[in-house]
Amino acid sequence: MFWKEVVASLYPWDLLDEGLDHVLDVLERDTLTNSTYLVALMHDEKRPLTDLYYPHNPRRKVYWTEDSRAYWRPDPDTYRETRIKPRISDRPEIQERDWLQDLIEGSRRRGMTVGAELSHTWVDKVRTEGELSDVVQRGISGDPFAGRICPNHPDIRAYGVALYLDLANHYDIDFIQTCLIGFHPGNHQPWAASGAGEAIRLVGIATGGCFCEHCRAAAEREGLDWNAVVDRLRWLAEGFNAYNHRQAFDLRLLRESSTTATALLAEIPELYAFLKFRTDSLTRFFGQIAEAVHAVRPRMDLRLNHFASYPELMGLDLKAVGGLLDSVRSSDYAEQLGDPARMETKRAYLHSIRRAIGPDKYFLSAISPRPKATPALVKQGILISAQCGADALTIGHYDGSWNNCLRAIREGIDEADIVVDRDAPMYRS
Ligand SMILES: [Zn+2]
Repeated sequence: MFWKEVVASLYPWDLLDEGLDHVLDVLERDTLTNSTYLVALMHDEKRPLTDLYYPHNPRRKVYWTEDSRAYWRPDPDTYRETRIKPRISDRPEIQERDWLQDLIEGSRRRGMTVGAELSHTWVDKVRTEGELSDVVQRGISGDPFAGRICPNHPDIRAYGVALYLDLANHYDIDFIQTCLIGFHPGNHQPWAASGAGEAIRLVGIATGGCFCEHCRAAAEREGLDWNAVVDRLRWLAEGFNAYNHRQAFDLRLLRESSTTATALLAEIPELYAFLKFRTDSLTRFFGQIAEAVHAVRPRMDLRLNHFASYPELMGLDLKAVGGLLDSVRSSDYAEQLGDPARMETKRAYLHSIRRAIGPDKYFLSAISPRPKATPALVKQGILISAQCGADALTIGHYDGSWNNCLRAIREGIDEADIVVDRDAPMYRS
């Protein structure tokens, strides 16, 4: 069978430390990479993420990222309609260069396609706890969720569109990808393993977001009785605090019951209304972005980097958003868990995405060559990706990859009899 691409993600400091050509040499040789992207707006995260130290970085053992910084040269004019601007690095060695332009030029020289990712958080926590404190989501009691921007806030919508237009108008890229985190899913984690786990997860959204004034306005525009929704959800949310005796009793009884999430949806229309309001909100936001970008770059591939186990709990309707965008990347990295049993969960995750987006949407499956992955698990992940109808492979991520697992990517592709060819038809003829 054919895969169109093997796509590798890179960070500015990978290029700074190892040198762009060296990185691309290794990726081409060991993994058949023919497409790259820069994580161009990166959240606060220690690199490498899954292990203590870098396996092959010659300059440092770890890199401490700055929170939500842009690694291209933002065009000030593009952001004139919003008071939110991308924040750039404070570090001189990172400031010196336009990392996206560097990656574009280096990748184009090799005939590769190239893109940019806007990662999980688009505004840093310092600003969302200070001058931009109004743009974050609110819990049902009005408490802010730092770093989690509200997709119904007009300034966030304008900023989101501007980020995409800035990249689309000023850089020769083929795709723009995002794994933006959606609505806060609420306080469900400690309960998830209980008998009525799915029902508790669902009720948990009452402790999530968003209940801000812009969400209220958006909901009321849609004809929702917002006060009724909030009143009903407040009782559920209060159950998560043991000192609210009656509400907590109700929640405990639910947890110890065999009540299903479906039963709750049928019983509590306000819960369904809130769930649907959130998915509609995020779908509208992505729709606005897609319309703006495709107006200026009709062929730009807008890609969702899909990472959530429960997309609906963060307000993502994968079918609706997948229909608006051009491609979807699975962000399942099961290989790095080192557990062969976990690989069947990967298979199910990939099937979930295909089920939602249909057989024709361009679909990339991620593989992780990071600890505790083994060459055998990497090869198994490649085979599963092929069996689940992936059109391309994507590597997450080069910086933390051990060389034996990188080599296993090319070997696994060869052993599965997959030909990587961008010009191949979508399906075997
Ligand atoms: Zn809101």
